[in-house]
Amino acid sequence: MQTINQSFDQTNPPSQELIDACVHCGFCLSTCPSYRVIGKEMDSPRGRIYTMNAINQGEASFDAITSQHFDSCLGCLACVSTCPSGVRYDQLIAATRPQVERNQPRSLSERFLRTLIFNLFPYPNRLRLLLPFFWLYQNVGLQSLIQKIGILKTLSPNLAAMDSLLPAVDLNHLNDSYPAIIAAQGEKRYRVGMVLGCVQRLFFSSVNEATIRVLTANGCEVVIPPSQGCCAALPAHQGQEKQAQTMARQMIDSFAQTGVDYIIINAAGCGHTLKEYEHILESDPVYKEKGREFSAQVRDIQEFLCAVGLTTELSPITDHQLTIVYQDACHLLHGQKISLQPRQLLEKIPGIVLKEPLDAALCCGSAGVYNMLQPETAQELGQQKVDNLLKTGAQLIASSNPGCSLQIVKSMRSKGQQIPLKHPIELLDYAIRGVKID
Ligand code: SF4
Ligand code: SF4
Repeated sequence: MQTINQSFDQTNPPSQELIDACVHCGFCLSTCPSYRVIGKEMDSPRGRIYTMNAINQGEASFDAITSQHFDSCLGCLACVSTCPSGVRYDQLIAATRPQVERNQPRSLSERFLRTLIFNLFPYPNRLRLLLPFFWLYQNVGLQSLIQKIGILKTLSPNLAAMDSLLPAVDLNHLNDSYPAIIAAQGEKRYRVGMVLGCVQRLFFSSVNEATIRVLTANGCEVVIPPSQGCCAALPAHQGQEKQAQTMARQMIDSFAQTGVDYIIINAAGCGHTLKEYEHILESDPVYKEKGREFSAQVRDIQEFLCAVGLTTELSPITDHQLTIVYQDACHLLHGQKISLQPRQLLEKIPGIVLKEPLDAALCCGSAGVYNMLQPETAQELGQQKVDNLLKTGAQLIASSNPGCSLQIVKSMRSKGQQIPLKHPIELLDYAIRGVKID
């Protein structure tokens, strides 16, 4: 592939100061999922920081080959959690990805795939229009036929990966509108805004419904501005800077006049991005400050409930003991440092026994749209994650991120194994309403 730029351009290149903080100790390597699967130093955090430095110093070329190693990063931020020197790899890769998008050419098929992804997934209204076609595709047997023949795998492993991730489409999700304000039950304790997400609202609307019920049952008035769009997670993670900034501004404006105490999100990846608006809008003098104020109000639903406390009674959700394994989403665990709260909430439900998997902090391979862009590495990680989850003997998996849920269900399916998977907030909702799941 032709090289256009030899070095990073002058618009926010990876900071030399942040690069110099790395002492090359290598502690981060064993926790890096891309290094675990690919096994090359260049696909590790240390290797990528070394490459950024070499490009900054003019000792390596910023080209298609070096860019591949940046593309292979899942952005899981495990290295940030592990690094004893406090290296801000998150900021380094966040600066590098837009450089790749701006300066490195991609093949025609890659351009097609990325155009499709970035013009579809962050736009729930566009995605909604396709739901009836997806439903038909699944229900007339076309999807099973195509998967049986394996034609998509031959044509494009990326499209085959997208197809295998598609969850069972429910046409009831065509109408996913909620009232703009939903009253608290009993005495009002807080007025909270709620971000609906894109994939969440169309493919996991039961999670949003459960979130509303749990919040209102615990004394929260819930405000859902109908003008809200995508939180910008998907374009931000992939270096689509301008698209991410536009979406962040729109989200801030949607909540500007709502007068809420907190802004609640139930998807880990979205939550992490909502808390990063100040950085995403760094170059915008007006919205940078608004972004900082917005992010200060954002809380993951589990973080929020643990902080304010439940006022509801919880009943058992099965007639027997239920063994659950909680799957840490990277953007909760590493991105937001939230690991205890989901576990504490689950353990409050009578009859639940919580198990811990091996390699709990290792990415499942979902990583936004990584599993569509880099399907081979993602598949290997998905298999490892599912093996470790199932080895616990759990009867149910709890996961707080729609991307992880899709990846885990797909990976279980490909192994011919299937146990139920729920968001912790769905289980809490059952426990509040006294609903049994078996
Ligand atoms: S990023 Fe941190 S853990 Fe990794 S090599 Fe550099 S200093 Fe060590
Ligand atoms: S973000 Fe994840 S995949 Fe990327 S270098 Fe860090 S640990 Fe590795």
